[in-house]
Amino acid sequence: MKLPIDPAANLAALIRCPSVTPAEGGALAALEAMLAPLGAVSERLVFTEDGTPDVKNLYARIGDSGPHLMFAGHTDVVPPGDEAAWTHPPFAAEIAGGQMFGRGAVDMKGGIACFTAAVARYVEKHGAPKGSVSFLITGDEEGPAINGTVKLLEWAAARGERWDAALVGEPTNREKLGDTIKIGRRGSLSGTVTVTGRQGHVAYPHLADNPVRGLLMLAEALLSPPFDEGTADFQPTNLEITSVDVGNPAVNVIPARASAAFNLRFNDTWQVETLQAEIHNRLDRASKESRLRPGRTDPVDFEIEWRDRPSHVFLTRDEKLIDTLSASVEAVAGAKPALSTSGGTSDARFIKDYCPVVEFGLLGQTMHMVDERVALADLEALTRIYLRFLEDWFA
Ligand SMILES: [Zn+2]
Repeated sequence: MKLPIDPAANLAALIRCPSVTPAEGGALAALEAMLAPLGAVSERLVFTEDGTPDVKNLYARIGDSGPHLMFAGHTDVVPPGDEAAWTHPPFAAEIAGGQMFGRGAVDMKGGIACFTAAVARYVEKHGAPKGSVSFLITGDEEGPAINGTVKLLEWAAARGERWDAALVGEPTNREKLGDTIKIGRRGSLSGTVTVTGRQGHVAYPHLADNPVRGLLMLAEALLSPPFDEGTADFQPTNLEITSVDVGNPAVNVIPARASAAFNLRFNDTWQVETLQAEIHNRLDRASKESRLRPGRTDPVDFEIEWRDRPSHVFLTRDEKLIDTLSASVEAVAGAKPALSTSGGTSDARFIKDYCPVVEFGLLGQTMHMVDERVALADLEALTRIYLRFLEDWFA
């Protein structure tokens, strides 16, 4: 049987499957077919939950002994947007000027295509790995992320799967291939603060209680002072107010209610609980001020509502995993990669509960954009980096 050693051919096959989240689009089937000649034992899992779309997932394992390396990723993609705006159709995998165009080219069918090619080259060169390689692939990363990696990990762990390390193939590089490995991620926490006042006529403010005045003081307390100055491994914690809502179309009415939504990206100075306590303290203190509410002695009447499922901050400390990957990148790309914890969250936040996890993939510059594309040279270089990593990790 022909081994899938060519990352561009692998990627073209995956891009031609229109797997816009949560649709499978044939992408998992295509991957399963690629992995079969490598001796992979595959299982397709459909996970469901009320109020969310059913999602297809794939778990494939090559080998049955340890050590056990997991490669994790997703075949679902974000919608292409206006297809007419694309220079090349989003699901055609056309090549022009040394680049392959298509939705998912870098985020992250490209990573899967390269890792598959690297395993194939490994098998061709050395035979089966001295241990196991698993593919944990979800169709629910770009969607609600409920019927994907979380449940796939629970399912696999329940039937006895244990991993020694995991590599996530999300696009991690900023400027050129090899510049950045991710070894952790900041946490993410969202909430809404709502102030209740008393509605009234703007000409008679003493008969009303304008909640916007209170909200402004509370909002300022959310933004200042800074939460921290950053740590050795992380940038400073940051809060952004994402929406301020009053919903009052009348210029002569003092509204009854005003709210502000916010999101925090936080470093390892904090845990979700300590950060929530800090926010409560800040709001409590600000609610007793009278700066913007002259003449009032009652505190601002506010409520805070936290969004479900915050992301916890994590930092991977597995030296072997980080050093092996870093050396593989340097050997192929010619320079040491930065070890970063910046950017958004990824499914690594779920995997870290099972084994040490690092992330390395393609360039992120065109992800989620019109004309998402990848240089063929990058596909080849990433495949070589992954191959080198496999050789050294299993050595
Ligand atoms: Zn992604």
